[in-house]
Amino acid sequence: MRHRMKLEKAREKIANADRQMAKLFEERMEAVKAVADYKKEHGLPVEDKAQETKKISEIGSLIGDPELRPYYASFLQSTMEISKRLQQERLRRQAPGKEQENAVLRMELGPDSYDIVLERGCLHRAGELLDLNRKVMIVTGELVPRKYAETVAGQCTEPFLHIIPSGEESKSFAVLEDILVTMLNAGFTRSDCVCAVGGGVVGDLAGFAAACYMRGIDFYNVPTTVLSQVDSSIGGKTAVNLRGVKNMAGAFWQPKKVLIDPDTLSTLPPRHITNGLAEALKAGLIADEKLFSLFETEDAATDTEKVIEAALRVKKKVVEADERENGLRKILNFGHTIGHGIESVTGMLHGESVALGMIPMCSDEVRARLIPVLEKLGLPLSVRADPDTVFAAVMHDKKMSAGKITVVKVPVPGSYKMESVLPEDLKDLIKMVVHV
Ligand code: MG
Repeated sequence: MRHRMKLEKAREKIANADRQMAKLFEERMEAVKAVADYKKEHGLPVEDKAQETKKISEIGSLIGDPELRPYYASFLQSTMEISKRLQQERLRRQAPGKEQENAVLRMELGPDSYDIVLERGCLHRAGELLDLNRKVMIVTGELVPRKYAETVAGQCTEPFLHIIPSGEESKSFAVLEDILVTMLNAGFTRSDCVCAVGGGVVGDLAGFAAACYMRGIDFYNVPTTVLSQVDSSIGGKTAVNLRGVKNMAGAFWQPKKVLIDPDTLSTLPPRHITNGLAEALKAGLIADEKLFSLFETEDAATDTEKVIEAALRVKKKVVEADERENGLRKILNFGHTIGHGIESVTGMLHGESVALGMIPMCSDEVRARLIPVLEKLGLPLSVRADPDTVFAAVMHDKKMSAGKITVVKVPVPGSYKMESVLPEDLKDLIKMVVHV
């Protein structure tokens, strides 16, 4: 009985503290609103690393009980995250009329959550949207119009520009080392950051550099191709290739923010537009019937923003449910089993290869609807290559379990099912799109 009394007493104390904290919370958030208003007025960024670091370092003197200090540190950290969210929400609401054309999607991954800003011209607001008030290693590709990286650099206090050769070969330890050494020589510390400006290769490599340098520093991604805008820039997969095996060494390292500026697509060759749209089409097929029918009824190649946003929403949901690809995230590999084989054998672009890889993985009804969409986009329906060579390439990087390979199939647009197929059946599927 006395124990119960003790428990009740302690609980009442907690309730009391909670009531006080609720009041303090409200007080704090009122002040945060005032800060947001001030920042809005003066065009200051929401992120303020220096202020955060200062606060965290003050903890020692605030909390007497050393046992509690780390708990308080994480409490304060999440309070600051919430404050930033409120500021961002507030800034968004204060920009009326912009809402329709701009979208800010929030990738909810607990402490690794981040905003994906989809907005025409946001490249020019990088200084306001990102914390560039520190050393920034901007990584860009040789073929990416230089003006994009320079636009970002122009908004940094201490920019460093690293241009990598175009193509998959740049996802190597040699190029990674180059970037890391440049950062080392420039005296980058843990509070500095890396910013990718370019396509998927740039993002994967720069992201991995950020994940490695001093065991991980902040990373921003500014994708400038359709493929990277709809797919690779979000989700936190970073990697380099190892002995010709794609993405063999890497890390899950989420960006702190992603800026998607559809204006950058104006310099992209048409073939690369449709190449990227193939991944958006994939997203529609596995999870969003509406997005798929958008491809049927509208001109996806010109109405890219709508398509990008819908595809991002699909990817966001999948990544939120399964960040580390333990299950659900595998559905994003729809079309990729055969696609990767075709890509490595023929050298076709990634999206083009995935488009081909999707064809055999659909039900007859879905295929009958998919083919006209691919035709409309100008994506290939078949490729000349040796099916056996493609099969060998597929088997090379696919793990088997109980003599079967797991693939993703689409029975109805907007849905998926996982299926285990025998290698010989997979060969038949390949033959649907690969002919000598
Ligand atoms: Mg892909």
